[in-house]
Amino acid sequence: MSKILEITKFKNPILRQKAVDIKKLSTDIEVLIDDMIETLNDSGGVGLAAPQIDKGVRLIIVKHKDKDLVLLNPEITKKSWKKNSDEEGCLSLPGVNGFVRRHSKVTVKAKNRNFKDVEITGRGLLARIFQHEIDHLNGVLFVDRAHKITEGKDLLD
Ligand code: ZN
Repeated sequence: MSKILEITKFKNPILRQKAVDIKKLSTDIEVLIDDMIETLNDSGGVGLAAPQIDKGVRLIIVKHKDKDLVLLNPEITKKSWKKNSDEEGCLSLPGVNGFVRRHSKVTVKAKNRNFKDVEITGRGLLARIFQHEIDHLNGVLFVDRAHKITEGKDLLD
């Protein structure tokens, strides 16, 4: 049975650490994947990175067309020159929203949950989620990149 995990919040130092690669599949990782999917579904969010549930490994779950994309060791291999700005929030920063400029299109290379190589190109919202979640694996939060905080600025002090 998978379980809903507690989401780490803004001041938790794990959100500022660089997560480590997953070398191979293990029962622990498989359980973690299922628990993260459960946690993301419960949260109503569109993406979740392992540091957000207090695990310093390179694993993200991204909602795409009612599917859960499971990406291990994701890396952006291509990005569009074109960028666009849109409003973002984060499960680790409840009540905070802001506009962030991101590449409009990115290609991500990763391992899927069977540890097979996959490559996915995302545009628009999907590209934005990829960049937001991969940032989490490098200790970067959207508020670091935001050019305008629209809500919850006081919560960042
Ligand atoms: Zn986030």
